[in-house]
Amino acid sequence: MDVLVLSEAWQPLGRHTWKGVIPDVIGGRVEVLATYADRSIKTPSENIPMPSVVRFTTGYGFCQHVISSTRPTRGDIWRRDNGECQYCGTSLSRKAFTVDHVHPESKGGPWSWTNLTTACAPCDNYKDNKSLTEAGMHLFTDPVKPDHIGISSWRRGMPTQWKRFLL
Ligand SMILES: [Zn+2]
Repeated sequence: MDVLVLSEAWQPLGRHTWKGVIPDVIGGRVEVLATYADRSIKTPSENIPMPSVVRFTTGYGFCQHVISSTRPTRGDIWRRDNGECQYCGTSLSRKAFTVDHVHPESKGGPWSWTNLTTACAPCDNYKDNKSLTEAGMHLFTDPVKPDHIGISSWRRGMPTQWKRFLL
């Protein structure tokens, strides 16, 4: 389950895995604003409710670390790209898309917002392990990391607890 992370100023910073957030919860660097009612996490001393929304209480400098470590999911990439292949424009369902490493994974391209794009299977197969130049392909939009306004438009499929923090 993912956790919505807010800054000290209540600005949505991104989503993070619960495992990535737990050390900050236990360390008291974030306050938990909402939890998943039906889930809990076993720690050596107790069961704690699984956080759904957290807010940093220690300022912006530390938040920057979380923003840069927020790893997009496959679904995040698809949502950002409106479910369209960024090479040919084909509309793709949640079940029929691939995530392409723009700079190939085999050549050190990372799994990151700025190196991943939505692709259809034919484009992905054609591009294979080539760079854009080698493949002679172009992207409709350059992959970017969404700002908090982008995140607020991802309402669909979000845990209900998040909604009131993203108005
Ligand atoms: Zn395509």
